Amino acid sequence: MHTGRIHSLETFGTVDGPGIRFVLFMQGCALQCRYCHNPDSWNPQNGSLKSVDDILREIEPYVEYYLRSGGGITVTGGEPTLQANFVTELFRACKEKWGLHTALDSSGFCDPEHAGALLDVTDLVLLDLKLMDREGHRELTGQPNDRILAFAKYVSARGSRMWIRRVLVPSWTDGVEDLMAMGSFVNELMGVEKIEVLPYHRMGVFKWQQLGIPYPLDGIAEPSPEEVTRAYRLINQGRTVTA
Ligand code: SF4
Repeated sequence: MHTGRIHSLETFGTVDGPGIRFVLFMQGCALQCRYCHNPDSWNPQNGSLKSVDDILREIEPYVEYYLRSGGGITVTGGEPTLQANFVTELFRACKEKWGLHTALDSSGFCDPEHAGALLDVTDLVLLDLKLMDREGHRELTGQPNDRILAFAKYVSARGSRMWIRRVLVPSWTDGVEDLMAMGSFVNELMGVEKIEVLPYHRMGVFKWQQLGIPYPLDGIAEPSPEEVTRAYRLINQGRTVTA
């Protein structure tokens, strides 16, 4: 049985997939997004080692809530595909034991072949398209977006269901061209059930301070509801344009 390095867990998540969900945060991430609210999840050596059975025991008391609400389990991070074998075994066990709905919340910064078995036991992929512009993406996250776009196409070609998300950071991820390019790209994908614009928030700033890392988005305000509406409009406008 595999063990996983776990950052933390939540038993009543309501924003990472449908219904009420058990949300497991895996330790380790290869990106360093400037807006990350979990920078303490970056180091793959940290976190606590748990077995699949340990996690099943955490889920068990709440299973009825997840099932009755149309929810399930979401594994996020950090980056869950870095521990693909563990997450695959966990998802398989959740399905066999309770028939739970499984969601994988990934940055997509992952070798597609590495995630095939995991996608076989995943009902829904939540995928962030942080920026379409390659260089801007590198500046925002430390890495270019080629692998992420390739991963999106791979998931699409497998016919998996997807929710595509964009964290809206004023002056970083709210450009007209980029939002329209995202809409256009999404239009070429199959299986996209939903697009979500998630307003950037500053709730994780204290973690950067605790880690002694200067917060790179100082001075950037959270977007207003009007800015979020505008972002949805631009993405939808982009969906009418062929990539
Ligand atoms: S992919 Fe997620 S966990 Fe990793 S740095 Fe970006 S926001 Fe943080």
